Parts: sequence; structure tokens; C-alpha cells
Amino acid sequence: MNALIKGREVLLLDGAMGTQLIARGLKQGDWSIAWNLDRAEDVLAVHKSYVEAGSDCLTTNTFCGSPIMMARSGHAHRFEELNRGSVAIAKEASTGRCLVLGNIGPCGDFLAPLGDLETSDLTRAVKNQARILVESGVDGFIVETMSDTNEMETTVQALREFGLPIIASFTFEKGAIGLQTALGTEPAQAIATAIDAGASIVGANCGTSLSLQDYQVLGGAILDAAPKTPVILQPNAGSPRLRGDQFEYDLTPEDFATWAQAVVARGVSVIGGCCGTSPAHIRAVSRALRS
Ligand SMILES: [Zn+2]
Repeated sequence: MNALIKGREVLLLDGAMGTQLIARGLKQGDWSIAWNLDRAEDVLAVHKSYVEAGSDCLTTNTFCGSPIMMARSGHAHRFEELNRGSVAIAKEASTGRCLVLGNIGPCGDFLAPLGDLETSDLTRAVKNQARILVESGVDGFIVETMSDTNEMETTVQALREFGLPIIASFTFEKGAIGLQTALGTEPAQAIATAIDAGASIVGANCGTSLSLQDYQVLGGAILDAAPKTPVILQPNAGSPRLRGDQFEYDLTPEDFATWAQAVVARGVSVIGGCCGTSPAHIRAVSRALRS
């Protein structure tokens, strides 16, 4: 039995952190991870709002917390304390009611031969971040918004030594030949790579060009590629539209909940939200799936 899902019919994750922090004053170009110390009360409030909305899992505010990514941030000297602080905040908000997933995003560099990054350097970076998250008490990992199957493979393999469940989530967009990652990999191949690497739950998140209809098609493709592995979907709240200097997302909580019911009926077992989703979206899904 999957250690995160346990006896649940559906595991409900949280919605967006980034767009919620933007609503609280995070500016374009700011590093959201810095708020784990500098604006900890705001990060705590966002987590709490997801607990109250019915989330089973909180995701740490560490999407940009890879040491490779942070080397270009101006916060590199706080790498350890910002990653550690993220877990403390999420655990405080959960008060034992939610699991806490350590969020690991793309490292920001391309592996060789696409870029200069060596596999061994990525492995070391992933383990450095993961060790801090584990020591701070996470219940599992979520590796998300990945476009490079090689980076996903190396990251998941590096995480396996910690013995915790690993969610592996790619971002797909509408490409020339259909749904594919930014590097041109089709869902079936990307998902197979994550499963082979040792992921315990596989799926997709984000994707600025994808509608909920696209996410139904994508969910079907991922379910076909993962007959024995639980599937996660975390769409955005529609495609972002720029209004002034802010992105807006149109999808209502009701539409999001209707979509969630449909994909859960198809066999998707883990649901959450990416950019633009709010506690209202998660609450609507919680009510729709559990009433
Ligand atoms: Zn997103």
C-alpha cells in the first residue's frame, strides 16, 4: 500500500504557494524561499489556510531551494536555514493533521550534454537539500514542475536513500505533436522514467498552456503509462492572463472541483493545485470528493 495514500480514496494536496505569496506582497524577481525566515508569518498563514480547506498534505515552500538554484539568488548563505525553516512552518501549520512533503523543483541548470551540469553534481545537490528536509521532519518528497526526464531520473534516484515516499511530477505543454515536456518528451516516456527511477506516485503539475480539458486527456495518458503506480494531477487554475503587472487565473473553485471528480472517477488518486489555485479551490475539491 502506498505510504502516503494509505487507506484514503483520494489524497488531497494543497494549492499554490507562489501566487498566494504574491497576493501577500511577494514581488516579481523576489525569492519566495526567503520568506521562510523574512515573512514566516505569511507562509504560515498560507499553509494554515490549506489545512482549514481540507488538505491532507502540505508542500514546503522550497521549490527554489536547490543549492544549485540558490547559488544565483543572493540567499545562498541561508540555504540550510531557509530549507530547515520551511519544514518548521509547515509542521506548525499542520498541527499533526497533515503530512508534510518536501518540495524539490528543477535545479535551474541543464544536465550534460544539454548543459554543463554533471550528474554527480546534481545528485550531491539533491541529497544536500533532501538531508535538511528529512532532518527537519518531512514525511515524503514531491519533485515537481520537471521538464527534463534525465533531471527527474537523477533526482528521484538520489532521494531513494532516504527511504521516504517520492512523488514525481512533470510539467507538460501543448507541443507540435501533442502533449509533451518543454524538452519534447511525451507523457508515456516521462512517466516510465519516473517509475523506473523509483517514484511512488507519478503525474503532472502546472503547464501554462493546458486547460482542464487538456488535463483530462493528460490524466488518461498518465494512467495508461502507470497501471500500477498512483497518479497525481495538479493543474493551474486555468491559463494565466497578464492584467497590469499581475497574472490572473480564471478557473472557479466549482469548475476545479467538477474536474477533480471526473479524473478521480477515471482512477487518479492524488489531487492538488498549481499556479493560481487557492484555498477556495482546495475546499471545493474536498467538499466534492468527500460529501
Ligand atoms: Zn504552476
